[in-house]
Amino acid sequence: MIQQERIRDLNGKATARGSYVLYWMQAAQRAGDNHALEYAVGAANDLDLPVLVVFVLTGDYPEANLRHCAFMAEGLVETASDLKKRGIPMMIRYGDPHGEVAATAGKAALVVTDRGYLRHQRLWRERLAAAAPCRVVEVETDAVVPVAEAYGREAYSAAALRPRLERLLPRYLLPLKETTLRKKFTPPLTDGEAGTSARELLAPLRLDSSVGPVTSLKGGAREALRLLEGFIEHGLARYGRERNNPAAPCTSRLSPYLHFGQISPLRVALAVTGAGGVPEEARGAFLEELIVRRELSLNFVYYQDLYDRYEALPSWARETLEAHRHDPRPYLYRFEELEGARTHDPYWNAAQRELVETGVMHPYMRMYWGKQILAWSPSPEEAFYRALALNNRYALDGRDPNSYAGVAWCFGKHDRPWPRRPVFGTVRQMNAAGLRRKFPMEGYLHRFGTGGLPVVHSTGKSK
Ligand SMILES: Cc1cc2nc3c(=O)[nH]c(=O)nc-3n(C[C@H](O)[C@H](O)[C@H](O)COP(=O)(O)OP(=O)(O)OC[C@H]3O[C@@H](n4cnc5c(N)ncnc54)[C@H](O)[C@@H]3O)c2cc1C
Repeated sequence: MIQQERIRDLNGKATARGSYVLYWMQAAQRAGDNHALEYAVGAANDLDLPVLVVFVLTGDYPEANLRHCAFMAEGLVETASDLKKRGIPMMIRYGDPHGEVAATAGKAALVVTDRGYLRHQRLWRERLAAAAPCRVVEVETDAVVPVAEAYGREAYSAAALRPRLERLLPRYLLPLKETTLRKKFTPPLTDGEAGTSARELLAPLRLDSSVGPVTSLKGGAREALRLLEGFIEHGLARYGRERNNPAAPCTSRLSPYLHFGQISPLRVALAVTGAGGVPEEARGAFLEELIVRRELSLNFVYYQDLYDRYEALPSWARETLEAHRHDPRPYLYRFEELEGARTHDPYWNAAQRELVETGVMHPYMRMYWGKQILAWSPSPEEAFYRALALNNRYALDGRDPNSYAGVAWCFGKHDRPWPRRPVFGTVRQMNAAGLRRKFPMEGYLHRFGTGGLPVVHSTGKSK
């Protein structure tokens, strides 16, 4: 079922007398569990037309590097093949997304696209809507509850959003039925159809290759589903009690797949909701992260224009950090020292190694990691931009609404004041003694070792 609130007409233009319905796939890079794709198929059936999918690869995607793009391309190759089985060709174009899609829309009756929440994604859709010769419709599929339905303004914290989401879930937490496309694309598309390897797809792009692909995770919907099944079988039951333990990870590792839209949050939520033999508190704890926390991040970037700026922090947090600006810092590191995991703190170094080497970091270590960057930087502003830059450069799930909300959380966003500490003021502090007290940290050190990293240094500036 595609709820009406997921659908937005972007330009008020009429459906044209075209020869296909064009789906511009951008955020939801999957052939299944995709409301935008199903909407396009339904509209095509009504118009007795085929569907063409276009995906635009751009070398200028904000902060993208080879690591991100290789993971994405692995998924795209699989998506193209899955679409083909449904009788839908996928065309790849290179250049600026809205311009390329507008060029492909010349013979379209209707353009459908998915929803992206970040600034550049919204701008691309606005520009496409103005340039396209026909109606452009956006269908929201990467949130369980559509962002504007969930809350009408920026939510102060999870406590504000949670009751709204809980009330709305019965309407939106429903499976999406796949519709069979009646009319296939003829003659078959030959020019520009997606190739068969990730390497081939990326070949025309000039990418920052200083951060290379990882071998720890493979991109694509099949791998995402495999991880989901494994998580439900082996991790979910422990999730409520043990998700924070870095020494014995039990989390889903789905965030890179969610980031690239290779798996739908609705599919994950339904699978976890229906998992048998799992304690209710484990299911609830997971859905709190997947729905409440993740959709709080969507709310943040959707309503807060300054989501990637220090100024987006709440005033109490900026005031307390200002009051402690000149507190002595027992350790001060240059950006390169942080990037190269060369601090005095073996736990932090291990977390940075995990990030650089595997493209992910244990969720609990991520909080600790961000907090220590605040403790060891010359100013809170510099700390904020350093954390964002390192996160977005190395994390497979970086450059996501969660990246901005996660980093901002380390500086007080969506949190409340805590007892006063040097440097942090009343922003919540985390320290190594706390880690040692709660978890057998040798297990984590054992996995990610110690010592510096041979990394190519980036600038440390996200802006
Ligand atoms: C400094 C910092 C930076 C972060 N950067 C990112 C980022 O770049 N991309 C990213 O996706 N998440 C980020 N997070 C949030 C969180 O750490 C990750 O979502 C989590 O590590 C993903 O691992 P997982 O998929 O195994 O999570 P699981 O525990 O299995 O959770 C399932 C899903 O729920 C969502 N989720 C879990 N925790 C959070 C959270 N705290 N906030 C919002 N959504 C959550 C994610 O989509 C995740 O995949 C950041 C957090 C911090 C503190």
